[in-house]
Amino acid sequence: MIESTIAASTTQEVVAELRRRSAFVMVSHVKPDGDTLGAGLALGLALKKLGKRVHYFQQDAVPRNLRFLPDAAFVAREIPGDLPADALWVFCDMSDAARAGEHLPPLLRENILDIDHHLGNAHFGKLNYVLPDECSTGTCVVRLLRELDIPLDREIATCILTTVMTDTGGFMHSNTSPEALELAAELMRAGANKEEITEEIFGNKRVGATKLLGRIIDVMQFDFAGRYCYSHVDDAMMAACGADGDDTEDTVNVLRAQEGVEVAALFKAYEGEIRVSLRSSGRVNVQAAAKRLGGGGHFRASGLTAHGTLDEAIAQVRGALVAEGL
Ligand code: AMP
Ligand code: MN
Ligand code: MN
Repeated sequence: MIESTIAASTTQEVVAELRRRSAFVMVSHVKPDGDTLGAGLALGLALKKLGKRVHYFQQDAVPRNLRFLPDAAFVAREIPGDLPADALWVFCDMSDAARAGEHLPPLLRENILDIDHHLGNAHFGKLNYVLPDECSTGTCVVRLLRELDIPLDREIATCILTTVMTDTGGFMHSNTSPEALELAAELMRAGANKEEITEEIFGNKRVGATKLLGRIIDVMQFDFAGRYCYSHVDDAMMAACGADGDDTEDTVNVLRAQEGVEVAALFKAYEGEIRVSLRSSGRVNVQAAAKRLGGGGHFRASGLTAHGTLDEAIAQVRGALVAEGL
């Protein structure tokens, strides 16, 4: 991933582009979370109010716990054949275009808007609305909605509050700024149901998911005098628990929360690849470690796709973490 020198776009530039175009495709990243999806749905709902044509593209299916989001039923992998050539493709919450997966048609940079809050975003669009100090991509979208003079109605507020609660871990992570809490209050007043969102995103666990968590905890290991905790999950473990990929998303945070742990890694070796989730308590920059191996993310939360065997992946990640000061 090459960091581009193209400067970040201003709110006014992005809003002018949104007004100019008539059709949009909101694009989410693979293994979608509440931020990538909620940000795209919120902006899509708003653009529809302006009379624009809006589609939602996502390579993977909407995870069970996000199906409650307004417009989630319209998210698809297919692109309609009659889409105008100058439709704007709006990538939400990804540091490079490859995070959208392999199913996208070839796109001209001219037709790409990149809205994101990751460190080291590649600035791959014509316009790059990249605000690394924002807690979620959804709160970047709020800035655009304010400039567009579009009020936060109940549906938009629900999508945005979902982005905030997802990326702050339910207001627990260090990105929970006073501004994030003030916005959350405004979103609740606009009709977003915080209880429902909490229950949908963090509750409703299936028994298989909890059993899988138990297995992952059973095989966790500690290193570097207890400062590093890592574990893995594979196809056999998932099958034994009757779980699937939707059921592993929060698990790495449990590893990170163990006493004395500064860095946690979860190696997800299933469906033919090894995806690694990294979390830091704040001393080690796991975005920099992930970047060494072709991934990315934030200082305290990052990810990558590893190559080779599980043991090789574990060794590569250890090397990258040591290089970043573990
Ligand atoms: P996750 O562990 O999947 O929740 O991801 C944590 C953070 O790392 C999120 O901000 C992701 O967008 C980012 N991330 C995860 N996997 C990758 C990857 N393969 N490449 C770049 N960023 C990633
Ligand atoms: Mn995301
Ligand atoms: Mn995000």
